[in-house]
Amino acid sequence: MKYIGAHVSASGGVEKAILRAYEIKATAFSFFTKNQRQWNSNSLTNNKINDFKKHCKKYQFSPIQILPHSSYLINLGHPLDILLEKSRSAFIDDVIRCDQLGLMFLNVHPGSHLNKITENMCLLRIAESINITLEQTKNIIIVIENTAGQGTNMGYCFEHLHQIIHNVNNKSRIGVCIDTCHLFASGYDLRSEKNCEKTFREFDKIIGFKYLKGIHLNDSKKNFNSHIDRHESLGLGKIGTTAFKWIMKNNIFNNIPIILETINPKIWKSEISWLKSCI
Ligand SMILES: [Zn+2]
Ligand SMILES: [Zn+2]
Repeated sequence: MKYIGAHVSASGGVEKAILRAYEIKATAFSFFTKNQRQWNSNSLTNNKINDFKKHCKKYQFSPIQILPHSSYLINLGHPLDILLEKSRSAFIDDVIRCDQLGLMFLNVHPGSHLNKITENMCLLRIAESINITLEQTKNIIIVIENTAGQGTNMGYCFEHLHQIIHNVNNKSRIGVCIDTCHLFASGYDLRSEKNCEKTFREFDKIIGFKYLKGIHLNDSKKNFNSHIDRHESLGLGKIGTTAFKWIMKNNIFNNIPIILETINPKIWKSEISWLKSCI
């Protein structure tokens, strides 16, 4: 089964995200569990939690089809202890929210070294942040996303993700989400079936498909290996349609959320229907 959807808005309440996903005929979705640009948010009330769960049931979304995204402010590899602490507690709060909503996953970007520590030290900090979070929470699988490698972002190669996983104690609660725009921008080619096969063969060799918990399906405005993170609608960017068709036809990507973060929400519905037609 292919679960296909988009990163929908949760404005007006988390349960609204489900309705928005349903409207575009999605069978998967992503959303922010709280305002992604603010550090603090009110805790979820029992009413909100029950509404969310009721809506999930009514519109037939099970936890495996939902990949919530953590706040952009969080830097689990922050070089400064006091800000690392702040990120860790905000992240723990995010994980607890997901658990309260009965979800399975939480997607997060690994972190940035900000030119203050080495890449290796940053990766160790990220793994430590995840270990601390896992000790203080339950159920949720933390899904780290590959990045375009813009600025000082870590996670721009499979080796980074592997190293983080390697240092996480509880391997049953760690996974990976692959963003196709980030992948292409960080120097993994996807412009032909041959290239897709090569890239994902490498993924399997270095990380392993058992860790793949989600896909972000985005075309890229910027060139191959540009290290610039600019999403584009499917087929309108530098990746082209081949990679997306290849992903739809490939069983490796069954039973995980496949999420559009493309730039025009008005065409999500047609992007989803096109993807379904490629299966
Ligand atoms: Zn992301
Ligand atoms: Zn993404």
